[in-house]
Amino acid sequence: MANVPVQQMIPKKLIIVGGGFGGVNLALQLKNDPGYQITLVDKNNYNFFPPLIYQVATGFLENSNISYPFRKLFRKYNNIHFRLGELVRVNPDAHTIELNNGTLSYDYLVFATGAISNFFGMENIRKYAIAMKNVNDALEMRNTLLQRFELATITSDLQERKKLLTIVVAGGGPTGVEVSGMLADLRVHSFSKDYPELKGTGAEIYLVDGSDHLLAAMSSASQKDTFEALNKMGVRIKLHTRVKDFTGDRVELSNGETIETKNLIWTAGVSAIAFEGIPASCYGSGKRLLADPYNKVIGLSDVYAIGDTSLQKHQADYPEGHPQLAQVAIQQARLLAANFKRIQAGKALIPFVYKDKGTMAIIGRNKAVADLPHHVHFKGFIAWFLWLFVHLVSLIDYRNRIKTLYNWMVAYLNKDQSLRFIVRPGHVQEK
Ligand SMILES: Cc1cc2nc3c(=O)[nH]c(=O)nc-3n(C[C@H](O)[C@H](O)[C@H](O)COP(=O)(O)OP(=O)(O)OC[C@H]3O[C@@H](n4cnc5c(N)ncnc54)[C@H](O)[C@@H]3O)c2cc1C
Repeated sequence: MANVPVQQMIPKKLIIVGGGFGGVNLALQLKNDPGYQITLVDKNNYNFFPPLIYQVATGFLENSNISYPFRKLFRKYNNIHFRLGELVRVNPDAHTIELNNGTLSYDYLVFATGAISNFFGMENIRKYAIAMKNVNDALEMRNTLLQRFELATITSDLQERKKLLTIVVAGGGPTGVEVSGMLADLRVHSFSKDYPELKGTGAEIYLVDGSDHLLAAMSSASQKDTFEALNKMGVRIKLHTRVKDFTGDRVELSNGETIETKNLIWTAGVSAIAFEGIPASCYGSGKRLLADPYNKVIGLSDVYAIGDTSLQKHQADYPEGHPQLAQVAIQQARLLAANFKRIQAGKALIPFVYKDKGTMAIIGRNKAVADLPHHVHFKGFIAWFLWLFVHLVSLIDYRNRIKTLYNWMVAYLNKDQSLRFIVRPGHVQEK
């Protein structure tokens, strides 16, 4: 195959399931490559940017600022096709996949299906809590919280009013920190003005985490700065504590305490998705697919996994696998694309080595923490500005960047935003 001229090659059918950071980057790296005919399958018809969904959830950004339709993204490239569908089963021997709306055959299959919320088997929490994984969750959170604030204005039962307004955020990772910081900021700058009749209700924002620190994966300086900043903003932080149960009216904590609330936001765990047809031996912890240094799923032919759903243990710094971060997915996608080109050229493959470019979390207005390589730590305005810049340039299209920048500027100058809409197609009542 190494010596076949490119124009005589029959392109290989490459199916990528999942159009997040990993899937989209892989497809775009192979755009116009005559060696590959690519079909990107996703259950949504748009790509979205998970690090900013909490801003959609809190009415700070519009959904369209962080989402982009696949068909528009790929329309310039005649070797990339989009297929709307949900993967339900894989037949590795037959080299086919079954979607909820048809069957496709492949020469190479790449899993880039990301992760979903993990409720650790706690059925009540799955049923009643608000998850924070995708755009649907974000819109659900925005609608639900706003609807409950409206209910709070009309109930004369003070206990019920406090329950409607109190919010518990489970999980002190970046998402939990960012959501609780944003809610605390909104409480001061927006809700107090929108709902003057709700002042003095005693409602609180709680942030609950089972470990010793917030932002467990970041430096101790970032952990300390974040704790202090959130504390000052009035967020009640409970460490060494897990959410054990939620009745829809009351959160039960592992330390025996209970919090009367209708609002539990769940950011406390993720898991990859296991698909029918893949042998159980292919999965490692968190249902991630065990992959070799070239992202090939161990035990299967022509099947690869990148991003949150892949688990590689070959890199000495990451013996339990790489962190589930956007940069890991992007870097794996880029290398896998290069390796697919090397397969066509008959060259040796290059193993994956993750290069950590740093981690950041925003806490509130002018407040953030950033850990950069070589133990460089920033906090406050510099970290906040860096966070805004990195997230802005990472958005998929210039239109999204312009819209987001505009919305952020309006919010910064006004200390407020005007996107607090309850839009519930098909719903009229509080769920
Ligand atoms: C709220 C939130 C905030 C985050 N903040 C940060 C951050 O600040 N920095 C950072 O580095 N990382 C952050 N992350 C993590 C980061 O988003 C992930 O590591 C990254 O998205 C992983 O990329 P991926 O391509 O593996 O999966 P994803 O980007 O999750 O994409 C998976 C895609 O697969 C599709 N899919 C799933 N199942 C199926 C199926 N059965 N059939 C068809 N399609 C399917 C989904 O629709 C989705 O488009 C955050 C994650 C969340 C949820």
